[in-house]
Amino acid sequence: MVAAVIGDPIVHSLSPRIHNAAFRSLGLDWVFVALPVAPGDAAAAVDGARALGIRGMSVTMPHKEAVIPALDDLTPVAAALGAVNCIRRSPREDRSMLGDNTDGVGYLRGLRVDLGIESPGVRAVVLGAGGAGRAVTHALGSGGASSVVVVNRDRRRGEAAAALAGAVGSFVPADDPGAVAAVIGEAELLVNATPVGMGSDTSLDDEGPLPVPAALLRADLAVSELVYHPSVTPLMAAARRRGAMTANGISMLVHQAAVAFEHWTGHPAPIEAMAAAVAR
Ligand code: NAP
Repeated sequence: MVAAVIGDPIVHSLSPRIHNAAFRSLGLDWVFVALPVAPGDAAAAVDGARALGIRGMSVTMPHKEAVIPALDDLTPVAAALGAVNCIRRSPREDRSMLGDNTDGVGYLRGLRVDLGIESPGVRAVVLGAGGAGRAVTHALGSGGASSVVVVNRDRRRGEAAAALAGAVGSFVPADDPGAVAAVIGEAELLVNATPVGMGSDTSLDDEGPLPVPAALLRADLAVSELVYHPSVTPLMAAARRRGAMTANGISMLVHQAAVAFEHWTGHPAPIEAMAAAVAR
């Protein structure tokens, strides 16, 4: 069986490592390949995958929206987000292709496993309203959070993301420090879905770039970082100095892949083998 990821650029994708480690770990006769697909060619790639019998496909930038017209159906979460990161064959075993989005459900699984936090009743603040922030906000809202406040620079994107959490969602502009401090003061979970801190050198003594002032961090505010390079971001380091629990973006990366793996193969995902492949 063949599974693949399409994107542009795709050479740095960790998906082949994660999925091939999982296939090896369970002794499955599957292989996962990375296929560079140029902008504008997403629909042709889906048709090609259909003809070639590719059993599962991951979709990354810039194709997460562009594949939608080529698919036969969408799951409710993919429809709500308007973005597909995982394509699977329909359960009818015909040629039809179902578009799904496993980022949010993968995020919630990681939150439970890596931070011990269950979504029902949680009071969360999500920094950022791009693809990752939207998926997390939608998942927390659907997962029963009691409040999900989206903090973003761009108001239109921020309000649209907050709406994905339903009645418990709200928006606070990132340039209103008083309002940001107030909502973080009431939260128990802070999610960084901005790229701030990505690629930072945390071996340096200074605190590095933070998406919110360090003074807002506290021991009873868990920090869930979506950035995974470096493995301890400046935000995580600052939160740890105040005694808070933290997790990095490997959690969501591995668990969204695990959900896709389970849909494609029907086997429980070997999480440890997948996480070890990322760590290597
Ligand atoms: P995106 O669609 O480009 O959205 C980026 C968001 O961050 C926007 O809301 C943007 O605000 C905000 N932002 C960008 N630069 C900022 C800055 N300097 N200060 C404050 N806000 C800033 O990106 P994305 O796909 O959502 O990814 C966001 C982060 O999550 C990236 O670091 C990415 O690597 C990570 N990620 C991780 C996973 C995982 O599995 N762990 C999956 C996806 C993404 P405006 O709207 O105001 O411009």
